[in-house]
Amino acid sequence: MIILMRPDATGDEVAQVVEKLGALGADVHISTEDGRTVVNGTTEVRLRDEAPWDAFPGVERVVPVVRGGRRVGRQNKSDNTVVVVGDVKIGDGPVKVIAGPCAVESREQLFATAVAVKTSGAHILRGDAFKPRTSPYSFQGLGKAALEIMAEARSTTGLPFVAEVLDPRDVDLVGSYADMLRVGTRNMSNHALLREVGRQPKPVQLKRGMAATIEEWIDAAEYIANEGNSDIVMVERGVRGFDNSVRNTLDISAVPLVKFLTHLPVMVDPSHAAGRKDLVLPLALAAVAAGADGVLVDVHPNPYEALVDGGQALLPHEFDALMSELRLVAAAVGRS
Ligand code: PEP
Ligand code: MN
Repeated sequence: MIILMRPDATGDEVAQVVEKLGALGADVHISTEDGRTVVNGTTEVRLRDEAPWDAFPGVERVVPVVRGGRRVGRQNKSDNTVVVVGDVKIGDGPVKVIAGPCAVESREQLFATAVAVKTSGAHILRGDAFKPRTSPYSFQGLGKAALEIMAEARSTTGLPFVAEVLDPRDVDLVGSYADMLRVGTRNMSNHALLREVGRQPKPVQLKRGMAATIEEWIDAAEYIANEGNSDIVMVERGVRGFDNSVRNTLDISAVPLVKFLTHLPVMVDPSHAAGRKDLVLPLALAAVAAGADGVLVDVHPNPYEALVDGGQALLPHEFDALMSELRLVAAAVGRS
């Protein structure tokens, strides 16, 4: 963090800032630029949040330096973290595809999807047991019965699976079935849940909060890593914008940025970003071209009857076409 003092800042005002930084354990460097004092403080703690710097007399501006976080930040680990889900590696180079329905609705629905996405080349199956619905009257998921169906589909297809966990009290239950846990956009700032998934051994997908900055998202990953679990895959799924022609605005810049700031793999969920199936293919292609380690795609054998998110789900043959196009784009940017 850099603090730019006003041109008329007094020696005492500079000293007050320097003293506070010192008390916080910062390494302080002072220089002069255009006759103004520049105080540069670096430390392991995020100084920006530790004091109301703008309110200190003589301070003109605080320039935050976005850092990747103590544990997940690139500055402490230059090689990429590869997250292993079942026998699938995410972040080792080749594009990985997670596909399946938003929610498990029945054994038939899940099996039809699982077999189809496996045939098309998906690497991991998705299908939730607990759904974070906006309305309490909407379908909430089948709970444990869904996890049992997912585990059965894993035995049949060989695909490991990921499922969302909404409640810290369900972490053990979901973790006892799933190969990977997902924290959804609505829970990115649920620190109790983040800590809980950080204390268990399964890898974690961390979706970006729909109104979260990159820095807040990385801090959320830091909560998980702090508990001992660094097997985290960051998932960009769009942020809320002003334009309602799409459900969320996919922030493609998050892909290279988070890969630059952290050592974690980054995936993209074009389905929940767009909220409409016609945009899923182009957004998925863009994600791969931008360097995403993989994509997460909603597929449903009968989207018109889906209990959740039918409007964004691809039919199995549409997913098959998406896989073919993804391979072409991956090859065009030197990936597989
Ligand atoms: C989901 O993947 O099913 C989901 C609910 O996504 P998000 O948390 O991104 O809305
Ligand atoms: Mn969904």
